[in-house]
Amino acid sequence: MIYLKLIPNIYVKSIEDIPYQKLKNSNIKCLIFDLDNTLALLEEKACPERVQKLICQLKKDFQVFIITNSPLRRANPYQKCLDIEVISMAMKPLTRGLKKIKGKYHFEKDEMVMIGDQLMTDILSGIRFGIQTILVDPIGVKDLKITKLNRIIENKLIRKYGKANLLERGKYYE
Ligand SMILES: [Mg+2]
Repeated sequence: MIYLKLIPNIYVKSIEDIPYQKLKNSNIKCLIFDLDNTLALLEEKACPERVQKLICQLKKDFQVFIITNSPLRRANPYQKCLDIEVISMAMKPLTRGLKKIKGKYHFEKDEMVMIGDQLMTDILSGIRFGIQTILVDPIGVKDLKITKLNRIIENKLIRKYGKANLLERGKYYE
């Protein structure tokens, strides 16, 4: 496990801090967001206005998707409100959601970015699939049960990475 190299291409504090213009200039066409603790808090049942505004802006330059491990009933309000395709129950770190989007919309892998708050699911799925990855800090402290387990592994990894100067909490880079 400690040999896994789950180092994202970009690490920023939040989705608002992602260098979208830079991504656009480097020919990124497809932004794929995780939902829970990346776009919104677990307890935000309806899509918050700040997310609506951001995604609406991003849709001018990119095709935007959500891939979440949560069930459809969690993702549905976001799908409707944002009018974007949402893949629920994706079982990240499996790559089948990414595969589906690539196939359906004919993206090249170097046009796609996976954005999320978890190394063990979001970042791992992106790296396995061979696309760029962006890590953000979780916006809340409340996690799903399964995520709590992943966080234990994640924290161990980050401690290792920190010692090797690869990745450190709060040490952002673009
Ligand atoms: Mg998440």
